[in-house]
Amino acid sequence: MKPYHVQPHPAEVILDANESYDALPAALKERFARIMAAVPLNRYPDMRAARLREATAAKEGCEAAELLFGNGSDELIVALTAAYCDPGTKILVPTPTFTMYRQNALPFGVETVGVPTDDGWRPDVAAMVAAIEREAPKIVFLATPNNPTGTLLAVDEIAAMAEASRDTLVVVDEAYADFADDGPLGKLHDRWPNVVVMKTLSKIGFAALRLGYLIGEETIVDEVDKVRQPFNVNAVTQAVATEAMARWKEIAPLFAEVRSERERMIGALAGVRRVTVFPSQANFLLMRVDADAEAAFMGLVKAGVRVRWFAGTDRLGDCFRVTVGTAEENDAFMHALQTVLAT
Ligand code: PMP
Repeated sequence: MKPYHVQPHPAEVILDANESYDALPAALKERFARIMAAVPLNRYPDMRAARLREATAAKEGCEAAELLFGNGSDELIVALTAAYCDPGTKILVPTPTFTMYRQNALPFGVETVGVPTDDGWRPDVAAMVAAIEREAPKIVFLATPNNPTGTLLAVDEIAAMAEASRDTLVVVDEAYADFADDGPLGKLHDRWPNVVVMKTLSKIGFAALRLGYLIGEETIVDEVDKVRQPFNVNAVTQAVATEAMARWKEIAPLFAEVRSERERMIGALAGVRRVTVFPSQANFLLMRVDADAEAAFMGLVKAGVRVRWFAGTDRLGDCFRVTVGTAEENDAFMHALQTVLAT
């Protein structure tokens, strides 16, 4: 195995990690600061996260018992793998996708089967269904919108995979769903009991808190809960996230703002020579550069702009993934890219 280390080049414009820019209204930020200051640091956190559970259930329209919280959704990927996969079993993913599904499977001796997407990065659902029947994976991980391609899955595509085998758990990772034109899918386990939805606060302004959660059938949530560390979600995170869930309406304007900036960037980049920008439903854009990708990447770094370059990655070696930032940040990136590609 190789450790997951991303070498952070120093930059003023940071567009490499799909975070949100600092978008919270000042009054809300002050409120969060007061809430953090009031957390009793001498006590252990509530291991059931009762207040956060109630607030999240109200926001999601689900039962409190249908939720499981993690230290980021990264931890939930580990917990799902630990709970459902024995050594020698398999997980299934479309490729390319978020690398942590594969990375977290490795230490469990679990093999990752990848099914390539088409040239437009659309998952091949028929091939996925065939692979579910052939390989009997314990888990299928489906990010929608997908990282790093920005592509969205339709509910009937998810249903086809969920119905291919009731013995396979289908994890619908909605890390970026708030930025999709139609928003998140909502609860799916009422119709497909082997489907769990995974969410995170990381992309909408709270990456530092590390809070992810699963929404699923109680029996599945209970299985995953068995491998969870009791104090996995710290007290500061619980307190702030409880308030964030209750004040979702004040956070939500960000989503439309990002969508509109995303479309503005797609329009502008379509006119840039040697750049192919792919459509995206997330808070980032994937683009291919018809140039020396390393030189272009280093040119951007020199101009103070940090994006994600997938050096050496299958089908992505000449691609950058760029977070949608503030209008100023996006303009700085586009200006730098144009300059770098013109030389
Ligand atoms: N799922 C996807 C698709 C992601 O892109 C990421 C973050 N890169 C995560 C999950 C993990 O998010 P976190 O652990 O911050 O909740």
